[in-house]
Amino acid sequence: MTRTLHRFHGGIHLPDQKALSLGRPLRQAALPSELVLPLQQHIGAAAQPLVAVGERVLEGQMVARPEGFVSAPVHAPTSGTVIAIEARPVPHPSGLSALAIVLQPDGEGRTVEYQPHSDWSALDPSTLRNLIRDAGIVGLGGAGFPTAVKLNPGPHTAVETLILNGAECEPYITCDQWLMQERPEEIISGALIMRHALQAQECLIGIEDNKPAAIAALRSEVARRGLTEAIEVVEVPTRYPMGGEKQLIKVLTGKEVPTQGLPIAVGVVCHNVATAASVHRAVELGEPLIRRIVTVTGHGAAQPGNFEVPLGIPMGELLAQAGGTTAGFSRLIMGGPMMGITVEQPQAPVIKTANCLLAVTDDELERRAPVRPCIRCGSCAEACPVSLLPQQLYWYAKSKEFDRAQDYNLFDCIECGCCAFVCPSNLPLVQYYRYAKTEIWAQEREKRASDQARRRHEYRVAREERERLEKEARAKKKAAALAEGESDDKKAAIQAAIERAKAKKAQANATPPATDPPAEQPAGEGAAPAEEKH
Ligand code: SF4
Ligand code: SF4
Repeated sequence: MTRTLHRFHGGIHLPDQKALSLGRPLRQAALPSELVLPLQQHIGAAAQPLVAVGERVLEGQMVARPEGFVSAPVHAPTSGTVIAIEARPVPHPSGLSALAIVLQPDGEGRTVEYQPHSDWSALDPSTLRNLIRDAGIVGLGGAGFPTAVKLNPGPHTAVETLILNGAECEPYITCDQWLMQERPEEIISGALIMRHALQAQECLIGIEDNKPAAIAALRSEVARRGLTEAIEVVEVPTRYPMGGEKQLIKVLTGKEVPTQGLPIAVGVVCHNVATAASVHRAVELGEPLIRRIVTVTGHGAAQPGNFEVPLGIPMGELLAQAGGTTAGFSRLIMGGPMMGITVEQPQAPVIKTANCLLAVTDDELERRAPVRPCIRCGSCAEACPVSLLPQQLYWYAKSKEFDRAQDYNLFDCIECGCCAFVCPSNLPLVQYYRYAKTEIWAQEREKRASDQARRRHEYRVAREERERLEKEARAKKKAAALAEGESDDKKAAIQAAIERAKAKKAQANATPPATDPPAEQPAGEGAAPAEEKH
């Protein structure tokens, strides 16, 4: 039976540039002289180092542990020596540096002893999630959310549908397409493990119809394993941004994920196909996330193609292994042309979420037309896949009316760039949205910090007042005890004096004075004896 598909609002058709990187077979990237492993390659808290400078490590060894529930560990991609733990340039829109473990490979490829779990179907979901968490798996489609957290919907939440996202709608990127075509068994195996962990009723794999070879390969693998009842590979129209989580869910199930809500609110969990393959490697082979497939492409790259790379390889080094840059090269982007970020420093490393290095030429992406005022044509609202009002968001972001921008659901914006793409005035709309979000986050951080400082001050004042009152109470108590002790002593002394007086009196009454003669004694008796006369 053919599945009924739905439409999402807006979206655009983009010129296809995928052929650029599909002409060559997969290449294995050579090990660089150093691997840079940022402690934060995921959404959530940064990992904490487990190694020290000078320590020798093995491939697959955990070198940083997760910090808290929403976090992910980091593993050594090869054996070698830790030569630094310091701030290094990282691929981030801010262009700032971040703490990283720097590993010098020894070329020996010595690994920890991996522990495969081929019998994973006998494991309970919680044990599976722990294996996936310990392997450092995060969403490889670009989001970087820790996979184990997404596989934990909560004890009373039923998951109806697990969706594997194979849309890969950005025009240049082909790493997922290559994986689906060449390693479908890894994706299907990962899908089964994820479905078991979620206890999901059904599993759908959504792939845009411009990737017929990937669709055929996955369908063939599903049929080979006799899984047609368990997993459905669904062909969806090619329309950007089909790979957006909410858009793919809408198309496959007809369900609308609520504003600022998560897919689980409508009984759906969505993972990328490459994430599924890494789950397979983590569980069935025992191998943590230490490498990934990256598309190196664009007219600025001399030999575009897909590479399997160790995490931490500097982007400039990877670009050099792809033949370096062409004469017209202008800038390097991590991700696709629509949602990627410009890489300011080529020594920034490939991290878990880096699916593409796009080397563009001067005239490849840059729109040369001048920026003009908004003419309120409404094209941006028609194109927005989230049904926002991009011109209003632009206006409020520009005038720094951030509260109003939030009223217009700024944080529902997925920064897909559809609005800017269709804007006849060439307004850099997404840059304004990113600026507004960054300002709001900064203000919230400041507010949290000042609230915390105020709470700390109030607590200190209350503690000091409490201590003062306690001290006063103790002093009063002591004084009262002393006073009571003194009066007891006095009472005792008076009582003792009374007792002594009584005793004296009693003694006086009992003993007659020596001067009184006894009544019956004859007169003359008791007188002094007379002197003897000679
Ligand atoms: S598309 Fe551009 S010019 Fe038209 S309303 Fe939106 S922001 Fe204004
Ligand atoms: S970038 Fe944001 S506002 Fe613009 S079309 Fe995409 S979701 Fe809508």
